[in-house]
Amino acid sequence: MMRTLYFQKDSKRGIKGTYNWLLEELGELEEALEGENKKGAEREFADVMAWLASLANITGVDLEKAAIEKYDSKCPKCRQSPCQCDF
Ligand SMILES: [Zn+2]
Repeated sequence: MMRTLYFQKDSKRGIKGTYNWLLEELGELEEALEGENKKGAEREFADVMAWLASLANITGVDLEKAAIEKYDSKCPKCRQSPCQCDF
């Protein structure tokens, strides 16, 4: 979906510019988590996900495939669900 919506613009902005936007959105998420506004935090989670998907798209990474391959319904370290790793 993010590829359809934004791939052309994301490609023009480039990897560094898109990465910087992702960092900015992470900062906004941090601020939202410190507040009491759950709806605002939801929007910031969505923005972080959108910018992460944009970054994946312009670097040729299929984000959904990468996440499923790594996590595959199990923790990639202990291979359990739920994770049994020590903190
Ligand atoms: Zn684990």
